[in-house]
Amino acid sequence: MNFVISSDMKKIQMVDLKGQYTKIKEEVDQSVLDVIESTAYINGPKVHEFQKNLENYLGVKHVIPCANGTDALQIAMMGLGLKPGDEVITADFTFAATVEVIALLNLTPVLVDVDPVTFNIDIDAIKKAITPKTKAIVPVHLFGMCANMEAIMEIAEANDLYVIEDNAQGIGATYTYPDGRKVKSGTIGHVASTSFFPSKNLGCYGDGGAIFTNDDDLAHTIRGIVNHGMYVRYHHDVVGVNSRLDSVQAAILDIKLKHLDQYNLARQTAARKYNAAFAGEANIVTPSGLSGCSGICDTCDCHVFHQYTLRILKGDRDELVKTLNENGIPCGVYYPIPLHRQKAYLDTRYKEEDFEITNQLVKEVISLPMHTELDDEQIEFITTTVKNFVNS
Ligand SMILES: *Cc1c(COP(=O)(O)O)cnc(C)c1O
Repeated sequence: MNFVISSDMKKIQMVDLKGQYTKIKEEVDQSVLDVIESTAYINGPKVHEFQKNLENYLGVKHVIPCANGTDALQIAMMGLGLKPGDEVITADFTFAATVEVIALLNLTPVLVDVDPVTFNIDIDAIKKAITPKTKAIVPVHLFGMCANMEAIMEIAEANDLYVIEDNAQGIGATYTYPDGRKVKSGTIGHVASTSFFPSKNLGCYGDGGAIFTNDDDLAHTIRGIVNHGMYVRYHHDVVGVNSRLDSVQAAILDIKLKHLDQYNLARQTAARKYNAAFAGEANIVTPSGLSGCSGICDTCDCHVFHQYTLRILKGDRDELVKTLNENGIPCGVYYPIPLHRQKAYLDTRYKEEDFEITNQLVKEVISLPMHTELDDEQIEFITTTVKNFVNS
């Protein structure tokens, strides 16, 4: 296939961290230098400032910063006091960190299928998986799209379960209840985790993460756990971990937090343009939100497009990946293997027929370049290349 690329089109990147940094360089550089000068590298005032600002932004009582998003999940589960043998239900179609920490804590992961429209954990599948040993549900706001939290909280309440939101991909998304009430993702469950990995919607320049909760007692417990189980210096009341967000990363995040809504809006704008270009394509399914909306309709913005992920119905997804790469367009397959088929998480209880949707999605999904710096010419080139492939 031949396309004329205008010679001045910016090179297309999956994520353009440099372009984003360039726009806030002065502010970021100064803030980082200030931390270096201050020598308050660990638990410095910047960490506290960022924590407060994130609490205000999210409308949540407690943010507890930690070292990364995987730690955040683990610490949330430790804080809830989950015990070996407790069953924790999570989605089969997600990044492995979610199931990894469940297994690490000797809890029993129970993977369930996802919804074909939102890619998020399937409500009926959760109901079917509940046993007397079930203690928690971990919905993942996959690709930046809020899971159906109202239904999940209802199930949790009826069965006395904890809900831990894995908000690593969904920070800044707004969840709208059927009655119109709006809250931020990560503030609905009993506790939530997020990641500040550089490519996440709110990313730092290294590793970082945080735990959110509205529960004062749980917040207190977790603050001790992240700090070697200490509530009073050199008194170790529980077995904890060492998991900290350093001051340099907090300084960067505090600046980027001010731009988060604008960054998410840039992603949503790019997603709208992608959606418009793919409208009417019979072999392409564009991302969808809850109750059939696009996730970015007039009444809600429940999708912040950490990834922009298509389903390619007929045609060879792997060939499309090749074609895009040949044309200088990076893309990703998130995720190519269902967790229930990963060696580390095999379990004789799993039956292939219980994972019909995930098994289909891993063959069909492709994520296109998505970041805050995409321009119209790039989107036009990407969408034309995809459409030519699926119609050839
Ligand atoms: C990125 C991610 C994590 C892990 O975050 P790290 O900061 O890399 O440890 C966990 N869950 C999901 C869904 C993620 O996307």
